[in-house]
Amino acid sequence: MLDMTPKEIVNRKALRINPAKTCQPIGALYASLGIHNCLPHSHGSQGCCAYHRSHLTRHHKEPIMASTSSFTEGSAVFGGGANLRQALRTIFQVYNPDVVAVHTTCLSETIGDDLPSLIKKAREDGLIPKNKHVIHTNTPSYVGSHITGFSNMTVSMVRYFSEKNGETKENLNIIPGFVEPSDMREIKRIMASMKIPFVMFPDTSDVLDAPQTGRFKMYPRGGTRVEEIQKSGAAQATLALGGFASEAAAQQLEQKCDVAYQVLDLPIGIAATDRFIQALIDFSGKQPPESLMADRGRVVDIMTDMLQYFHGKKVAVFGDPDHIISMTEFLVNLGMKPVHVLTGTPGKLFERRAKSILKESVPEANVKAYSDLFLLHQWIKNEPVDLILGNTYGKYIARAEDIPFVRFGFPILDRIGHTYFPAVGYRGAMRLLEKMLDALLDRQEREAPDEKFELVM
Ligand code: SF4
Repeated sequence: MLDMTPKEIVNRKALRINPAKTCQPIGALYASLGIHNCLPHSHGSQGCCAYHRSHLTRHHKEPIMASTSSFTEGSAVFGGGANLRQALRTIFQVYNPDVVAVHTTCLSETIGDDLPSLIKKAREDGLIPKNKHVIHTNTPSYVGSHITGFSNMTVSMVRYFSEKNGETKENLNIIPGFVEPSDMREIKRIMASMKIPFVMFPDTSDVLDAPQTGRFKMYPRGGTRVEEIQKSGAAQATLALGGFASEAAAQQLEQKCDVAYQVLDLPIGIAATDRFIQALIDFSGKQPPESLMADRGRVVDIMTDMLQYFHGKKVAVFGDPDHIISMTEFLVNLGMKPVHVLTGTPGKLFERRAKSILKESVPEANVKAYSDLFLLHQWIKNEPVDLILGNTYGKYIARAEDIPFVRFGFPILDRIGHTYFPAVGYRGAMRLLEKMLDALLDRQEREAPDEKFELVM
């Protein structure tokens, strides 16, 4: 399928081939689903909304709810204000959410619809019931990626909701980054195990991984409640997990409500998880419980058993920047060599961080932000690897070059169940270790001659 990818690399500036990212509104829509009783709303044409919903549905294997302003040619000429007003009228009459979270699309951004004025007028005209909320963010897809969209919507949650009323509480805010519902659940489990009071937003656990009960619920029980997000303004501090997805909201909270913040890498892999736990210890003065330390001990034990197979293996890793920074560090800690490291999201910080992680062990590694899978494939043709780690789109390169492949990150469109297992924390590390070694050993055994086809490894 990708047989024609040439080995020779030509410098390209404008053209992307097989982008390693998707569009801003997908991230904004996902963040909106992390608010309790919220209906995400796409201010644009039906096609955009259908794409964003289906992409998230294919990843999560859950129906993704969102409404649209349903732009037509007329809206492109006269603006989408009338469509938004009609949409809000229908949404509150028929679907009755507590919050409508509006994100723009390329078309409404190009038209230049002024959403704050449109929403204000809709409220003045009684289209928005008194106890209901309409928030918005701008997500032009010709800038950034789905990570930018997630970040922008999270900033809007702070802009619209966070308040500093009265005294500062002993609470900690957690902004978890663009991670799976299972990751958010695992972060909450760790926080609860340390008995630290916290507010986490957004939170898609129990929204996109709600149990099957046989009855459809338009708004599952999960999601951060508006009152909780309001309280974030009175917290003592914020931990932003993953700078690309979470720092902007933490910064906004500091500016608006004077809540100090710290940015940490996503707690993927043992070192990044250690730093997360240490930050919790520093904040609370509490020690982690025995059960958490036992989890860590198990990861160390598994790593010790596996190191002989990982050592020196070359890896190509691509995906969202916060995920890839932490994963690159994890691979280095396992003695592997991440020789190709790439993200589709723009940001020189990605290159600086990845290079600093790799400078001792793989100084010659290829590292690039704002790039595409065509270049990754060319890198692999020039320097083959033992393993590819990345989202579903990597399978075409894996097949063309016959390389073991582990699905990691977003989107994973061709497998089921992955959203239920965390990648974060010590438990997430255990699963990643198992998946990577299984892929390497499956390959080794497939090619082993009879005399080396061992029953016991
Ligand atoms: S037009 Fe823009 S917002 Fe709509 S699907 Fe395409 S890139 Fe995304």
